[in-house]
Amino acid sequence: HAKGGGRGQACLFAAAMDESAETRRVLERDLRAAVGTGAFELHYQPLVEAGSGGVRTLEALMRWRHPERGLVSPAVFIPVAEETGLIVPMGEWALNRACRDAAAWPEPVSLAVNVSAVQLRHKTFAQTVLLALAASGLRPERLELEITESVLLDDTEANLETLHLLRRTGIRISMDDFGTGYSSLSYLRRFPFDKIKIDRSFVREAGHLAEPGPIIRALVALGAHLGITTVVEGIETADQLAAVRAEGCDEIQGFLFSAPRPAGEVAEMLAALSARAADAAQAA
Ligand code: C2E
Ligand code: MG
Ligand code: MG
Ligand code: MG
Repeated sequence: HAKGGGRGQACLFAAAMDESAETRRVLERDLRAAVGTGAFELHYQPLVEAGSGGVRTLEALMRWRHPERGLVSPAVFIPVAEETGLIVPMGEWALNRACRDAAAWPEPVSLAVNVSAVQLRHKTFAQTVLLALAASGLRPERLELEITESVLLDDTEANLETLHLLRRTGIRISMDDFGTGYSSLSYLRRFPFDKIKIDRSFVREAGHLAEPGPIIRALVALGAHLGITTVVEGIETADQLAAVRAEGCDEIQGFLFSAPRPAGEVAEMLAALSARAADAAQAA
């Protein structure tokens, strides 16, 4: 119906497409060149115990130090890495780097590593994980692998088998971004997840009221009934913390406790959080 203007709009659209195709091409070229050159870093963000504020787990989050663009977000480069298959060597590097970092952390603190479908589908994935543990000396009980529902959607049987194999060694499996996919609930019946991480979009939805919102309330209760550890992601304010704590979630992750920090700052971060937990215990 937009008869006039149609052509002009098409031109604008084509120009935008060209630009994004070009941006994507440059990104892919730079990413290929970066793999194997030490251009990637891991930052770590704590998952704290809801009651005590003690650190249970540190999640490894990848960053790319680009010569011109600075620190690039994984939201930008992980999708390209997945489409090109570059995620396989990048993920192998991350597993090895993270396990070595984690072997130096105080005993109760575990490591969480994100795993994409492309990695899990790869024939040598389980071997890569077990080799990273062996090389670092990190016990399997201290490693958690975070997967999203999209991981299970493709090649379901083979992927489930790999996850079962890894889980039998003592590694724990978490479902990340829980509640955002189409089949989150059905996957809880198909695989014995150790942890569900309730997506931070549900916290945003709950707003700034000291009230978690019905979805978070229901998902925390679901986890409790199934005996699965529940984590609420993306807690930024004291009100949100109070609200999700009251619902009985097990662990909390968010900027309120700490943003992801470089590996070299982990000791300092752990000390600050343990001082804060001690203060909170005193005040209570
Ligand atoms: P994710 O695994 O769900 O990680 C949580 C994301 O939420 C991180 O973003 C983290 O910085 C952010 N976040 C944590 N707390 C807060 C908060 O209170 N407020 C807000 N606004 N954000 C918060 P990041 O580091 O940009 O990572 C984005 C995604 O990229 C990750 O989501 C994960 O899916 C993927 N990713 C990161 N590193 C890796 C990796 O090594 N391998 C794979 N396969 N994927 C990765
Ligand atoms: Mg994650
Ligand atoms: Mg998440
Ligand atoms: Mg995510």
